[in-house]
Order: sequence, then structure tokens, then C-alpha cells
Amino acid sequence: MTIAQSLLALQDTDQALALRRREYREIEAELASEGGIPELRENCEKTRKLELEAKVETARLESDMATLKEQVNELETRLYGGSITNVRELTAIETEHAGARRNLAKVEESIAPAEVAVEHARKKYEDLTKELAEREKSWKDRKVELRKRMATQGAAFNEMLEARNVEAAQIPEEDLARYNRLFRSNRGVAVVKVDRGVCQGCHVRLPVGELTRLRASDGPIPCSYCRALLTEQ
Ligand SMILES: [Zn+2]
Repeated sequence: MTIAQSLLALQDTDQALALRRREYREIEAELASEGGIPELRENCEKTRKLELEAKVETARLESDMATLKEQVNELETRLYGGSITNVRELTAIETEHAGARRNLAKVEESIAPAEVAVEHARKKYEDLTKELAEREKSWKDRKVELRKRMATQGAAFNEMLEARNVEAAQIPEEDLARYNRLFRSNRGVAVVKVDRGVCQGCHVRLPVGELTRLRASDGPIPCSYCRALLTEQ
């Protein structure tokens, strides 16, 4: 096996390693998200508070309504009870009465929407609670599965990494260092094949001189266009 061929084999291993690492990170991220349960729980709690606030608001309106009704009744008793002796007093009570009735009408109008808001929040809270329970149940199984997969993937990754290091130890240090640099800087492509005189990394036809040099060379030489290390098939 030439150095270039060894590097190409190493690159296959490194690409497989990168894929496994990515899969591992994905599992890790999903585990960290806890199936979106924390957000759902927070939302649930927020809705519960909204329901409570809406109930408090409705109770306040009902209490206001009772007070205003009493006030209106009292004023009406005075207006029609025949106890008023002068026009000034009559006008004052009439004004107060009109104001109290206006306020009462306003409060009465607000009660229905407030009750709707309570019902809306109650329903939403109920739905979210149900969803949360279901999510928690399914997450339990998913978590077990993910943990298992993570352990399997981790073990497979470590095993592959060990094999990779044995493989890499066969390659001259200088070539390996160059390969590592390229692999990192070139998105996982350090070594490319040359097919019928065309670099498979950048698809440029190589000059005859470069091909001759490649055939004569012991170690890999870089493509003068894309810098990837060339290897003949
Ligand atoms: Zn190239």
C-alpha cells in the first residue's frame, strides 16, 4: 500500500468517525431537550395562573355588580320614596343614580367576556395537562432507548477510534500531519482520487507534468488547484 492509499483508507475511517460523532451529538441534544417537556410544563403553569387570574377578575366584577345594584336600589328608594324636599337634592340624587346605573351596565357587560376567558383558560389548561402527561409517558421510553443508543454509539466510536489510531501509526508523521490539517480545513476531504487524469476533488484535468510527478512520487502530492492530496486509482 502506498502512502496515498493508506491516507485514503484513513480518510474513509475518519469520515465514518465524523458521521458517528454527529449521530452521537444528535442523541445527546435530544436527551438534553427532554422531549420538550420543560417548555410544556412551563406553559401549563402559565395557563393555570391565567385561569386563576381570570377567576379572580370575574369574582371582582360580580362583587362590584352586587355593590352597584345595592347602590341603585338605595338611590331609587330615595328618589321615589317621597322624602326629597328640594330640587337641588333631587337633581343631585338623579345624577348619582344615572352614574350608578351607567357603572352597573358597564360591569354587567364585562361579566360575560370574563366568564368566557375563565372557560377558555380552563380548557387550555386541561388540554395542556393532558398533553404533558402523555408526553411524559412517551418520553420515559424514548429516554431509555436514547440512553441505550448513546452507549452503543459511544462504544462503537471508541472502538473505531482505536482502530483509526493504529491505522494512523503506520503513516509517516509528516504525511499524517499534512493529512490531518487538510482533513480539518477542507471539510473532511484531504485525499482525492485521480480518474483518467481528472482530480476527483475539484474535477479539473491535471497537467501532464503533474500526473507524471504523481506516478514517480513515493508520497502523495497535492492537487495544484484544490490542494487535496492526490492518489491514483
Ligand atoms: Zn483538485
